[in-house]
Amino acid sequence: MMPPVFRFAPSPNGLLHLGHAYSALLNFDRARETGGRLLLRIEDIDATRCRPEYETAIYEDLAWLGIAWETPVRRQSEHLGDYRAALERLSALGLVYPAFESRAEIARLVAAREVDGPWPRDPDGAPLYPGDAKSLSADERSHLIASGAPYALRLDMQAACRRAARLSWNERGEGPDGERGIVPVRPEAWGDVILARKETPTSYHLSVVVDDALQGVSEIVRGQDLFYATSVHRLLQVLLGLPEPAYRHHRLIRDEACRKLSKSSRSTGLRALRAAGITPAGVRQLVGLG
Ligand code: GLU
Repeated sequence: MMPPVFRFAPSPNGLLHLGHAYSALLNFDRARETGGRLLLRIEDIDATRCRPEYETAIYEDLAWLGIAWETPVRRQSEHLGDYRAALERLSALGLVYPAFESRAEIARLVAAREVDGPWPRDPDGAPLYPGDAKSLSADERSHLIASGAPYALRLDMQAACRRAARLSWNERGEGPDGERGIVPVRPEAWGDVILARKETPTSYHLSVVVDDALQGVSEIVRGQDLFYATSVHRLLQVLLGLPEPAYRHHRLIRDEACRKLSKSSRSTGLRALRAAGITPAGVRQLVGLG
């Protein structure tokens, strides 16, 4: 049997904190317990927020924690062609359309719709796409694209769900509401998600699904903040004919005020803890892996 493959996939847009340490250590421990492999993937498609110095810090902090990973590390910014190919596949199925509204226009559209009552929000709390770019004619689309207008490429969620109905995933960990075992997908809760933009041929959802398949990841260990996004990931896997990994979502490490940690929260940053004299064993204890 092939050894299981795990991955830790941070974005180099800030310094790692205790929440990252917990996720990375869980992946590392599971890989060791199961005789599996651990990969590290740098999710750096957002060029405006990612910095090389944060990537260097990721390597240093993980090594300090005692984590070992396989090389070469996959850096998403070096594989845009893979994501473009997947996007073209979805386009060929007629599941992708360009939407030209700016963020400000979207906010205005949502406000206008909310005059009649609350507009639906996705599991992260963002309003679903309120526009009607899906109904633009082919001529209108080409005209707008030729004019140089910026656009986002969105998944036609209704059409996608018609093609891939009644999906589920195998949850080996636990969702925010205690979901475990076979979890039915509800991708429609996300509306017409963005798959790419004019300048970037991918998005988080698309690249994570393409990479996990290309890298042969068999068990995805990650935080519960991504639990509901798994619905979109399963849908994309089926539409793209990719294998199904198992998922193990873990609890989130929170600060004293019970908030999810952010990359700017200094007190829980690994560097700050290290400077304060905390050891790698101390970090394990802090996240409950002692
Ligand atoms: N890059 C994502 C993050 O830093 C994690 C992606 C994943 O584990 O699926 O939150």
